[in-house]
Amino acid sequence: MNKKQKLFLVAVAVACSVILAGLTYGALTGESEGEAGTTIVATFYPLAYVAESIGGEKVSVHALIPPNTETHTWAPSTADILQAQDADILLYNGAGLEPWFEEDILPALDVGQRIVVDTTEGLTLLPGGESESYDPHTWLSPYMLRMQAEKVLSALVESDPANATYYSERWTSLDEALASLDASYNDTLSSSTKSAVFVSHAAYGYLADRYGFTQYGIIGLSADEEPSTSTIATLVEQMTESDTYVVFVDPVYRDDYASTLESSIEEQSGQEVTVLHLYLLVGSMDDLDLLGQMEQNLENLAVGLGASVA
Ligand SMILES: [Zn+2]
Repeated sequence: MNKKQKLFLVAVAVACSVILAGLTYGALTGESEGEAGTTIVATFYPLAYVAESIGGEKVSVHALIPPNTETHTWAPSTADILQAQDADILLYNGAGLEPWFEEDILPALDVGQRIVVDTTEGLTLLPGGESESYDPHTWLSPYMLRMQAEKVLSALVESDPANATYYSERWTSLDEALASLDASYNDTLSSSTKSAVFVSHAAYGYLADRYGFTQYGIIGLSADEEPSTSTIATLVEQMTESDTYVVFVDPVYRDDYASTLESSIEEQSGQEVTVLHLYLLVGSMDDLDLLGQMEQNLENLAVGLGASVA
C-alpha cells in the first residue's frame, strides 16, 4: 500500500465515523435534517396513520407501540417517555386502552407547551369487560375512528394554523374514505343471514353495535391468554346454537394458535370450521394499510355473517 492509498483509507475511515456519529446522534434524539415542522407522538398505529394522513409532509409522526404488537400489555421505556415529552402533539386512544400513558407520560408533561388529545373524549363508549370500564377498541369501527380523526385535525389546526387549509383538504379525503367505509359496512352487513361472530379477541364491539351483530370473544378483551378447554366447550355450545362455524383470528396471533383452535372446535362439534382473518388494525400487514384492512375485515365479516357482498 502506498502513501496515497493509506491517506485515502484514513480519510474514508474518518468520513465513516463522522457519518456514523451523525446517524447515532440522529437516532438518539429523533432528529434528522429537514424534519417536518410539527412533531406528533401517537400511542399506536391507527392514530399515527390518521396523523400522517391529515398532516402529510408538514408533520413527523412516531408511534410508541411498535406495529403489530399486543396493545394491552405494552409498557413504555424511559426513551419512549422522553420522546413523548418532546412532541408538539400527543395522541392517545383513551377509553382505558393506554393506562401507562395517563400514569407515566401525562404527569411528567409540561402540558402548557403541547397539545394532548384523548381521541375518544366525549364519544359514546360501550361498556368494557370485567377488568375495564369501557371497551377501548373504538378504532376498529370506521364510524368511531372518523370522530377520533376529527380531533386530530383540530389539534393540528390549533398547533399550526398557518397550514390549516392544507390539513383541512387532506382531512376531507380521509373523512370521505371513512364515511364510505361506514356506508359499505352498513349496506353489506344489513344483508347478513347470521347474527353472531366468533372472534379470538373481543375487539369488535363497536362494529357489532353499529352494524347489528353479536360478537363472542374466545379469550375476552385481553389478547395474551390461551383459550382453556372449558372456554372451547362454551364456544362450541354457542356455535351450535347459532349454527355458525366460522372463527375470526387476527393474523398477529401465531398460526399454531389458529390451527389448535380450529382442530379443538372441529373435534368437539363434529363440524367443519372455517378460520378467517379479522385485523386488529395495529400495524400495516399483508401489504394492507389501515383502510385496506378495514375493507378486508368487511369482506371477511360478510362471509362469516352470510351477507351478500355488494
Ligand atoms: Zn384489544
